[in-house]
Amino acid sequence: MPATGAVRAGRRPVGAGLYVHVPFCASKCAYCDFASVPSGSIDAGAGGRHERFVDAVLGRARDLAREEGIGPFATVYVGGGTPTLLAPAQLGRLLGGLRALAPGAEEFTVEANPESLDAGRLSAMEDSGATRVSLGVQSLEDAALSAVGRRASAADARGALDLIAARWKGALSVDLMESLPGGTPEGLALSAKEALAAGAKHVSLYELTLEETTPLARAVGAGTVRLPDEGLRAETHTAVESVLAGAALFRYEVSNWAARGSECLHNLNYWAAGEWIGAGPSAAGQKRLADGGVRRRAASVSVERFLADPAAGEEIELVAPREAFFEALMLGWRTARGVDLRELEARFGAEAARLALDFAASRPDALAFAEGAIAPTARGMDILNPVLVALGELIGRRFPVEAVTSGNGA
Ligand code: SF4
Repeated sequence: MPATGAVRAGRRPVGAGLYVHVPFCASKCAYCDFASVPSGSIDAGAGGRHERFVDAVLGRARDLAREEGIGPFATVYVGGGTPTLLAPAQLGRLLGGLRALAPGAEEFTVEANPESLDAGRLSAMEDSGATRVSLGVQSLEDAALSAVGRRASAADARGALDLIAARWKGALSVDLMESLPGGTPEGLALSAKEALAAGAKHVSLYELTLEETTPLARAVGAGTVRLPDEGLRAETHTAVESVLAGAALFRYEVSNWAARGSECLHNLNYWAAGEWIGAGPSAAGQKRLADGGVRRRAASVSVERFLADPAAGEEIELVAPREAFFEALMLGWRTARGVDLRELEARFGAEAARLALDFAASRPDALAFAEGAIAPTARGMDILNPVLVALGELIGRRFPVEAVTSGNGA
């Protein structure tokens, strides 16, 4: 089998994660189907919705940590939604409470949006020991931003990047989005350059996905908005990738580039199918089970329900070992690190590990075995979906459900 074409070196997952979902946004972007509600403005008042949310989510995170028996937490990630929509004092209280739950966390990320990031919020992050800001820029082209109803203009985003460059001592990650209507390859490549100039050592480059229920999908369906064609999308991807490679960022996951040592530890744990708790509306956590399966616990998406009773409407899902095996490969093969064969064997057994190895040998265009791990080749990262379909079919044939499902998984 050929050596892997992707770069395998880099950080390894370090342990359990603590995720908190902040479900408020200033307004709703046209492509977004995440669990977030438009809040319009900052709601700093005592007894207001944001204040009650901070109390509720901290309480829920404490309860989940105790009930699930997961921890100590190696990473914390506060996402959304828009965490920086919370007033500085509220944000400080939330982050301080989470730091108390995860005193030894090596990485502590807070997502921020340009329109609501300011010096007060950066100080709140710094004071509570946050180590990393993930800024949702998406693009520095106004035409692309306004086409999808982003709240921040390019000037707002540049202002936030300048502020971070001047005042933030921690790590910076920037989100960019390909295929926005009105976006150009040169414009997104320049956006990447400006993010790097502000100190970003990590860039997430997401493809716009058209979710059926969103205003953007309706506008595209009605023909009032046109998405870039495949040629333009490929050109944009190549242009941005060459900027990132020029700054020595490597593609360590399908949609993520980082300088060595700047890979996101929290997300590495997700891709390693590890353990974490998730608190806040729509947040999910998972715990590994002794039989190889997984128990997943997800909160209701309703903000009002969460505020009234944070545990109400929670759903528990038991994932059978066969499904968990498929998920472990599906997630692990998104990363340059790939899936460690010995860990796979310890978790799912020798027969499953052999299947993974045989399958990889049958797809040398996409997968390679090296240094004890099966990892995607550089090309494999681009053609993962059909490979996973074939893998799913093979697992279905080789491992009938009744042969590998242990029952209650408790
Ligand atoms: S800021 Fe993010 S979470 Fe909020 S509406 Fe826009 S895409 Fe959705």
